[in-house]
Amino acid sequence: MSRYPESVDVAIVGSGPTGAAYARILSERAPNATIAMFEVGPTVSSPPGSHVKNIEDVAARASAQERSEGPGAGAATVSSPGAVKAGDRMARPGTYLLDDGYAFDGEDGLPVVAFSSNVGGMGAHWTGACPRPGDSERIAFLPDLDELLDEADRLLGVTTDAFDGAPYTRLVRERLAAAVDDGRPAGRRVQRMPLAVHRRDDGRLVWSGSDIVFGDATRQHPNFTLFDESLVTRVLLEDGRAAGVTVRDLRNDRVHVVKARFVVVAADALRTPQVLWASGIRPLALGRMLNDQSQVVFAARIRDGVPASAPRHAPAGQSDEHDVVAGTLSEESGVTWVPFTDAAPFHGQIMQLDASPVPLAEDDPAEPGTIVGLGLFTAKDLQWDDRVEFSDDVTDFYGMPAMRIHYRLTDRDRAVLDRAREEIVRLGNAVGEPIDERPFTMPLGASLHYQGSVRMGEVDDGLSVCGPYSEVWSAPGVFVAGNGVIPTATACNPTLTSVALAARGARRIADELHATEFHERKLEHDSRRTR
Ligand code: FAD
Repeated sequence: MSRYPESVDVAIVGSGPTGAAYARILSERAPNATIAMFEVGPTVSSPPGSHVKNIEDVAARASAQERSEGPGAGAATVSSPGAVKAGDRMARPGTYLLDDGYAFDGEDGLPVVAFSSNVGGMGAHWTGACPRPGDSERIAFLPDLDELLDEADRLLGVTTDAFDGAPYTRLVRERLAAAVDDGRPAGRRVQRMPLAVHRRDDGRLVWSGSDIVFGDATRQHPNFTLFDESLVTRVLLEDGRAAGVTVRDLRNDRVHVVKARFVVVAADALRTPQVLWASGIRPLALGRMLNDQSQVVFAARIRDGVPASAPRHAPAGQSDEHDVVAGTLSEESGVTWVPFTDAAPFHGQIMQLDASPVPLAEDDPAEPGTIVGLGLFTAKDLQWDDRVEFSDDVTDFYGMPAMRIHYRLTDRDRAVLDRAREEIVRLGNAVGEPIDERPFTMPLGASLHYQGSVRMGEVDDGLSVCGPYSEVWSAPGVFVAGNGVIPTATACNPTLTSVALAARGARRIADELHATEFHERKLEHDSRRTR
């Protein structure tokens, strides 16, 4: 017996925030449509897709993280202090790394590029930073981009005030503003980081995952079903158009065909092109212009501006660069955003940490909020040859075509990184006294913001995979979703933008479903009249 339906209107591959955005918009706008979502990983949190940070029990949270790590489950992760700087190739909790194919001789590669396999995808493990793209990060050919970003804010439950009560947040913001804001337009000045998080009435933080994106509209939709532990191995085409998917039920290893009029592949920016490749959908641009953000991190301590009478707290342990980039945010943390501009091409995520990334003297403990972790992300100089390729002979852990990543930093990338290292020291000094001796440059792939591999284009000129509604040029009815769709080189965290693009694609499918429904009703009406 198969647990899957024989056919649906829309099949969605992947249950991260972008797949969930399709499910939500379709549930709201096309309530008659039947939708099946297939996710290769298990359900690790409740409600399905919710952020693991919302799991209060530490052991239960660790177990949810480990069950998200697919083939890497059980391997050491960088959760321990100092691990990032030690240079070991380790994944962050809830993610796993590639065994091979991540770097080749003479190239830089993406050594720590990572994946999550669980209901909710990486969105069950992310930091939730949702800044808006600016200047060259924006997609110039989308006239409705701002409205779509507002829609993405709604879907992800983005707020800016969750950490307003955190100590010294305002001081940090004011000091950074004094160092940065001169000459910037209002929207690109130093400000609170928009975050996908809200506070419950009892004061507890609730981090947004796919559960928030699904919302009740999806969960209560009688025609929506989420199938976990279900690997989509192929998208099926008939006469060049979407016709369904082939799914392997990982509970019993049986393979099934589910017919669908529309297929949305939202399987992250490396596995989305993998699914297309496996399906024989291989446009020239597939996997090309792959780009990720380089990152530098630094830490400073606020000593002045702290009242002498302020209560002293013992250090809560040791924080790490991992906290800056992966967001181990506690109730005491504040997060400040230094927006990217073309003139200052860095996206700044400045987080107040509970404890220092380097050991402090025992008689000089830091007060919460006074240790400031600074992270600057840079946008890649886009190159056609930066790419993920797939093997026709070798398979990965899941039996899908194995990946080979070719990736190089250009001279321009290195020059921008040098500028970022200078800038982060300047910002650190503006905020307080530097704790680190020098900035640390994260290994490539660490941002987990890899993008561009199924890029959107305004016209089908061979340089893009999909059109402005995310529909694959060469395969009508097949839509792609996720960071891979973003055609620009962004320095800011990309999920808000990807969810915005997903909303646009989902609305298009809803419109097409309505048009077909109307057409079918009209045909039925006409045939009744003639009978
Ligand atoms: P994903 O969330 O990766 O979901 C894709 C899903 O598809 C996965 O669950 C996967 O198992 C499934 N899948 C893959 N292949 C198949 C298949 N063949 N069949 C069935 N299912 C399949 N981004 C930000 O914007 N801001 C941040 O602050 C931020 N912080 C982060 C911190 C961490 C620690 C991590 C891990 C990520 C962070 N990110 C951040 C990145 C963010 O999580 C991703 O951009 C986002 O989750 C992408 O959403 P998605 O739906 O496209 O893909």
